Amino acid sequence: MKIPQEPSAAASKGTLVHAALELLMQREPDHRTLQNALSDLDTARKKLESDPDFTGLDLTATEWDKFHADAAALVHKYFELEDPKTIRPVGLEMRVNAQIGKVRLRGIIDRLELDDNDDLVITDYKTGRAPPARFAEKRMDGVHIYAALVEAEQGKRPVRAQLLFLADPVAVVTNISQQTITRVERSTNAVWSAIQTATERDDFRPSTSKLCDYCSYQAYCPEFGGNPEAALALLNPPVAGAATPTLATPS
Ligand code: SF4
Repeated sequence: MKIPQEPSAAASKGTLVHAALELLMQREPDHRTLQNALSDLDTARKKLESDPDFTGLDLTATEWDKFHADAAALVHKYFELEDPKTIRPVGLEMRVNAQIGKVRLRGIIDRLELDDNDDLVITDYKTGRAPPARFAEKRMDGVHIYAALVEAEQGKRPVRAQLLFLADPVAVVTNISQQTITRVERSTNAVWSAIQTATERDDFRPSTSKLCDYCSYQAYCPEFGGNPEAALALLNPPVAGAATPTLATPS
């Protein structure tokens, strides 16, 4: 069950740039040039122009121009972070799905590649700004979960994971160790226990933070004068679930 969200220009721009970089990585290494990347951006734009996340954006012609100029600027900045000709991808927009602790998790990895030692590396593109250094570790939670999923699925642990913040541009890199995987399992189990407890008590209290500024559900949030019951009308009927709980990883 998922409450529908209004499309946002920032998220749709991210989708467009991700699609362009995926097309770029599908090219032979020598063809991964800036010129071809901009051509891939154009291809992705045509492919996505009828998508509801794009048709649903309420932008003026000037705002659309800025939208596409910003997307092109992000592609330019990507080339400041790495030389795409040197990347050896083994998975693009790769779906992963495995049991982690008590929970079945799934997610989509932007890029899984081999480094010079033939070790696995996870790369996640971010089109927003990099967080301040003190919050950087927290932003790695998603790629840590991806690392646990890759190891569970493929029997081989990635040695590194990196977030490429295109807007800055800056790469935040973390090594993956046994402690990383153990921490993912523990925190997954803890989150699942908290969800079970909240479900048993029917007690899901809102927890406000800076992130509320970006929340699509303020209209239904009691902290902002909304009524959560009103969101029920937007939900599709629940589908009979599997015995094992499944959670999507954060993007
Ligand atoms: S607005 Fe409400 S539901 Fe959204 S993040 Fe903030 S507390 Fe949570």
